Amino acid sequence: MAEKTVSQKTQEIDAQTVSPMMQQYLEIKRQHPNEILFYRIGDFYEMFFEDAVTASRELELTLTGKACGLDERAPMCGVPFHSYEIYAARLISKGYKVAICEQMENPATAKGLVKRDIIRVITPGTVIESSMLADDKNNYLCSICARRSRGRWKAGICFADISTGEAYATELNTEKTGTAIITELCRYMPSEILINPAVLDLKEVTNYIRQHTNALVELREDACYQQSVIDTALCDQFGADWKQTCHFAPDGLVPFAFGALLGYLHETQKHGVDRIKSVQNYADAQYMHLSPVTRANLELTETMRGREKRGTLLWVLDKTETSMGKRQLRSWIEQPLVDSAAINRRLDAVEALYTANVTRADLRDALSHVFDIERLTTRILYGSATPREVKALGDTCACLPSVRELAGSCKAPLLEELSGQIDPLGDIQNLISRALIDDPPANLKDGGAIRAGYNAEVDELRDIMHGGKGVLSQLEAKLKEETGIPKLKIGFNKVFGYFIEVSRSYVGSVPDTFIRKQTLTTGERYITPELKELENKILGANERLLVLEHQLFAELLEAISNQLLRIQRTASAVAQLDVLASFAEAAVQNNYVKPTVDDSDVLTITEGRHPVIEQMLKGSLFVPNDTTLDEGENRMLMITGPNMAGKSTYMRQNALIALMAQIGSFVPASRCHVGVVDAIYTRVGASDDLAAGQSTFMVEMTEVAEILQHATRDSLVILDEIGRGTSTFDGMSIARAVVEYICDQIGCKTLFATHYHELTSMDQDVYGVKNYNIAVKKRGDDITFLRRIVPGPADDSYGIEVAKLAGLPDAVTKRAHAVLRQLEASAPGAHTAMQLDFETVEAYNNPTVPSEVVDKLNTVDIETLTPLEALNFLFELKKALNGSH
Ligand code: ADP
Ligand code: MG
Repeated sequence: MAEKTVSQKTQEIDAQTVSPMMQQYLEIKRQHPNEILFYRIGDFYEMFFEDAVTASRELELTLTGKACGLDERAPMCGVPFHSYEIYAARLISKGYKVAICEQMENPATAKGLVKRDIIRVITPGTVIESSMLADDKNNYLCSICARRSRGRWKAGICFADISTGEAYATELNTEKTGTAIITELCRYMPSEILINPAVLDLKEVTNYIRQHTNALVELREDACYQQSVIDTALCDQFGADWKQTCHFAPDGLVPFAFGALLGYLHETQKHGVDRIKSVQNYADAQYMHLSPVTRANLELTETMRGREKRGTLLWVLDKTETSMGKRQLRSWIEQPLVDSAAINRRLDAVEALYTANVTRADLRDALSHVFDIERLTTRILYGSATPREVKALGDTCACLPSVRELAGSCKAPLLEELSGQIDPLGDIQNLISRALIDDPPANLKDGGAIRAGYNAEVDELRDIMHGGKGVLSQLEAKLKEETGIPKLKIGFNKVFGYFIEVSRSYVGSVPDTFIRKQTLTTGERYITPELKELENKILGANERLLVLEHQLFAELLEAISNQLLRIQRTASAVAQLDVLASFAEAAVQNNYVKPTVDDSDVLTITEGRHPVIEQMLKGSLFVPNDTTLDEGENRMLMITGPNMAGKSTYMRQNALIALMAQIGSFVPASRCHVGVVDAIYTRVGASDDLAAGQSTFMVEMTEVAEILQHATRDSLVILDEIGRGTSTFDGMSIARAVVEYICDQIGCKTLFATHYHELTSMDQDVYGVKNYNIAVKKRGDDITFLRRIVPGPADDSYGIEVAKLAGLPDAVTKRAHAVLRQLEASAPGAHTAMQLDFETVEAYNNPTVPSEVVDKLNTVDIETLTPLEALNFLFELKKALNGSH
């Protein structure tokens, strides 16, 4: 009868009562209570007890049991070792961590219980297997250390990609450190976040992580942040002079965040820490400020709906040839520059590649043969690279001289510099091609990777083996002759090695010296002492050869690892070249121009297009539009026009063009002049807000508040139909007040789309406001969208016509026209009334009314005023009020 299997908790098991192997398991498991333990037994990773129950549920594996000395069998399930990556990846994507426990000695030769140890803990932020990583995305592990002193929060934050060795860090110390942390998280989108306990008090940060990311959060104890622990970690990593070499800000928290990250890597990886050779300290001010909302609204790297790459700026600009370039492009898009000199260096490089058609084509062709050496280097360092992958590194090295030469042949300082950073790595290429055969196996399991002539012993052992086989056939021939049995052959199986097989009809002629081993229906199998001696020699050679090949391969990996810095620098230069070539290629294919970028205050665009929509439209033509914005009298473009006219598209296209220019790309326009903007802010109204929450209005106002607090004169602000979430009067009042505040107090370049017609009068009394509308052609009840932006306010809202266009039945649109006429007739001058309302509200809100105004009010005869005179009167009042400030 089968023993019963119940789910046992490892914590509750008395180790004395179980089998020795299970004792070993429990001991290891107790050090890793929070991870799913993959325990290697032969060709499988087995899971036991609660891990088995969890894994069988999550991975849909059959749950079995293993006798382990207890009354009940231990729940067990397993996965084949050669395909563990898929299973581990699935567990990790579901938020688990996986501890890999390996056999540390050969089970065949080990005496007693095989020694086992955890070689690595795989967590979302420490994955290096290419099958678990997206080629075109970095995978960041983040560490945040925050502290509050005198009511103010400070934080150090860093991001490291173990698979590529990149690391970035920055200090955050502002009025709103919480918001700043969120901005950084949006920039890097880490998959795992380490926090110190104090971060739990930064509710906005924890809420954000929970609601808007899939990142795994790892709370580290305060003990991990002790000065001595941190000093040791940094010293081990960067040497005793880390304080000088790392350039961390004095008295900052970055060392704590980074030290804790290194500590975590030490705990989980054997080699992960070696990969990080330096940290780049960046100040937020080095990059354009892009709030999380803006990144989402502008659809830089993923669409709002569906979160896909297709339909994003990344999608349009991605003409890269390498995975390294793809990741670099993404990070450039996520981090536009603000230093006009740096931007122009990139633009000049793109221009050089744009003009040199042949060189660009050759360069892209050379790049297309470049392997992801950045991530491969990590696997080489970990010792997990395969012979085929190492060969690919060798092949890549072979392309480097031509990449270097092509880049250097273009006369642009940045290209020449990158060219200089490419090390042709000829020594590594030589080493690899001497050591490995041309087409090495996918793994080293059966050997056969080392090239003949590389190592004398390998050659010798191979001779024995091959000679051995020759000897076998000689022996076979000899036996045939001696025994006179023609149907005699030497074979091999795993159970008893080499044997002599004789078919049934000749069994009678077999000599006594043959020892019978197995009876088959067709004949008998025998061995002889002579055969066994030969077998030992052959098998011994085979085994020794395998060990030797592993050893030589490990030495090869080690030798390559020692050149890590050179490979890393080369990889980084190649990635940047790939992006620059990609920009040039996109510019040629999509007909972009080089923008003029400087520190002026203008954004002037001639015939600008929306980079993404123009690609999506394909067949039909995108209508280009001009833009004139500055920080003076054209600081606020007030854009009106019916729904679907193209207001949102126009505003976004301007933001995207500025952003493209600042990442160093050419832009979709016939001419373009960008004065560097320090930030882009967007607020998209309720109607377009795809991620509309429960309290849309609250969300909207919070976002507007943020913009008003943070935008500077050098920012670019996009407000798309704000005030939609509330009643018309409230909405209009808020919109108007916001426009005034932005123009008078901030003075930044702003694009403002509104359906409140009444606001178009603001160009009269607020400096910097210019009216524009998107033209439509009206014939009878029908309208055609011209998609062209023209000066002046829209003359009508065309709501009913658009409704008709959308397919509302004629009867309904006719009736709507009738209702509209009635309304207009019964409320003449509705617009005027609306404006009166505003001015009174303003006067009312101003507690110190100057005497001049009081006098005017006392003398006016309201009874005799026409509406127009009333308006003018109010205008005078207002002037008097403003004049008195
Ligand atoms: P609005 O914000 O005024 O309601 P949108 O900007 O959302 O209008 O534009 C509606 C649609 O019109 C877009 O999805 C796009 O397909 C098309 N469109 C907008 N601008 C243009 C243009 N300049 N040329 C061609 N099609 C355009
Ligand atoms: Mg819109």
